[in-house]
Amino acid sequence: MLPILLAAATVVSTFAGGLLALKNKDRLHRILGFTAGVIMGLIAFDILPEIFHLVHETGVEEMWPMVALIIGFLAFHVVEKSILIHHAQEGEYEEGHHHPHVGVASALALAGHSFLDGVGIGLAFQVNEGIGLAVAIAVIAHDFSDGINTASLMMLNGNNRRRALMLLAIDAIAPILGALSTLFFTIGDHGLLIYLGFFAGFLLYIGASQILPEAHSKHSSYKTLGLTVLGALFMFVVTRFIGH
Ligand SMILES: [Zn+2]
Repeated sequence: MLPILLAAATVVSTFAGGLLALKNKDRLHRILGFTAGVIMGLIAFDILPEIFHLVHETGVEEMWPMVALIIGFLAFHVVEKSILIHHAQEGEYEEGHHHPHVGVASALALAGHSFLDGVGIGLAFQVNEGIGLAVAIAVIAHDFSDGINTASLMMLNGNNRRRALMLLAIDAIAPILGALSTLFFTIGDHGLLIYLGFFAGFLLYIGASQILPEAHSKHSSYKTLGLTVLGALFMFVVTRFIGH
């Protein structure tokens, strides 16, 4: 039941992020900076070491989880590019280019991704409880930004507050359904190894795509950069405490 309870905690963080995005936008990039650091820390201090460990245990060639990593990274890049490309092109929303359906499609794609966040928590618990907890903490932190993204995507594309809240609710429930789905199947050590590689690639993309716009922005601040470092350090400490 623990993975389901932890997935349920993401509902709170998704809503908190979404409501914050609807209220004020001033400090959002700082939060995104911190969660990006948390995600990078999770990959480096928890998922990759677990992959090395499983490679050693199973004798599977280390290349295969790394192939899964690239596939995970590129798959989400392709999905995001093909769905959000309109959003990027219509970035000058002040000029009155409103496409509410693009906002809904993007928010639904985000909800699909949040479902996988939940699957990630559930499968990590199948590896062991330590990595399950670490993944859950990182996903809860990161779902805060999923909430921000869902609400902003909806509003930027000209949807009203009520529809933004509706899509926020869908996005908030998705991780619970994802975690629940993992109660109905188990994958062996080999499957977990491939999943961990794929999930690491997926997270690498999310982490990097949160950092890069900030890094290239004129308004980028050292405070945000500092928070990214702090997020990574936070995960270092967390994974030391949880152990494996
Ligand atoms: Zn997510």
